[in-house]
Amino acid sequence: MDMLQAPASAVPSQGPLLDRFGRTKHKLRISITDRCNMRCHYCMPEDPEWLPRDQILSFEELHRLAALFVRELGIRNIRVTGGEPLLRKGVTDFIAALKALRDDGLERVSLTSNAVLLDRHATALKAAGLDDVNISIDAMDPELFQRMTRGNLEQVLRGILAARDAGIPVKLNAGVIRGDNEQEVLPLTDWARRHGLPLRFIVFMPLDGRGGWRPERVVPEAEIIARLRTRYSVEPLPRTREPATYYRLDGDYRVGIISTVSNPFCASCDRVRLTATGEIFPCLFSPVSTGLKEALRAGAADAELTALIRKAVWHKGKGFIESAGYVQRAATMHALGG
Ligand code: SAM
Ligand code: SF4
Repeated sequence: MDMLQAPASAVPSQGPLLDRFGRTKHKLRISITDRCNMRCHYCMPEDPEWLPRDQILSFEELHRLAALFVRELGIRNIRVTGGEPLLRKGVTDFIAALKALRDDGLERVSLTSNAVLLDRHATALKAAGLDDVNISIDAMDPELFQRMTRGNLEQVLRGILAARDAGIPVKLNAGVIRGDNEQEVLPLTDWARRHGLPLRFIVFMPLDGRGGWRPERVVPEAEIIARLRTRYSVEPLPRTREPATYYRLDGDYRVGIISTVSNPFCASCDRVRLTATGEIFPCLFSPVSTGLKEALRAGAADAELTALIRKAVWHKGKGFIESAGYVQRAATMHALGG
């Protein structure tokens, strides 16, 4: 159902960060690197060509933009992502510097990670003030995990527990892909529940770096629920503004399903994305982006950068609900950060 307002015409020059359909943005995702120590087939090209280093914004440049988003544009939550964000040297100091924006209204700084390096960084991230971490884990079977991601499950589990033990709230995200890991829905749920960690299943989106997405590889929300019902009682919970739909299992554990393909949440989307090279993608499915790097490096004043951001966000499309199938874009998921 399309519940979006009819588009308005003029880009506002002040007030909250708005798109032309009346959606206000409160959340910013910053991808700080496109590099990764895994090669999840649903995300990365087989042999990725990394972005040239001189095109990647420095942490000072990223922080300047983040500060504008918070002070001038009303962003309240920032999520640091990648590629794999923990691969970039200085990430902990960057998170501490973002946290210093709390006096300007920033409420949360979060991280999305594959957890491979998390056991090394957990204590420092906690000390830097990180509010929470989302960790991707697609299988409890080590061989299947390796096939899907080329990663080592044991390292990931160690990272998850290290973050939890350091006192960082952890959420788990599991991609579900037909023919790969639909049989992992129950083992993942059992493990997460046993460790008291929230879990969300993410339905495969047509954004992968290899063009491998097919409609028949999408495991619908109903099937994930049917699999859960073979072991648990499943009670739907009222929908919130969050992208996930939540279900209570056996009365004591909550599982979410993020199903952009079958149950898009575009009408309430409050996010905007910034890549490591300073491109604004107002939507995961935006075919085009707006670059800030040139203006930033040419010495643009804050007002000029803010106006560029407002304009980019204003022209955000309706979202997934208006795109059909595979999305061709200059950036794939690993450069956008999910
Ligand atoms: N490397 C970090 C990680 O894996 O959590 C952060 C970046 S990764 C791009 C962020 C999220 O995007 C992961 O949870 C991953 O599962 C998800 N993702 C990547 N490609 C996807 C796709 N084609 N469909 C759905 N989710 C995808
Ligand atoms: Fe790397 Fe994350 Fe993409 Fe996997 S999903 S390849 S861990 S960026």
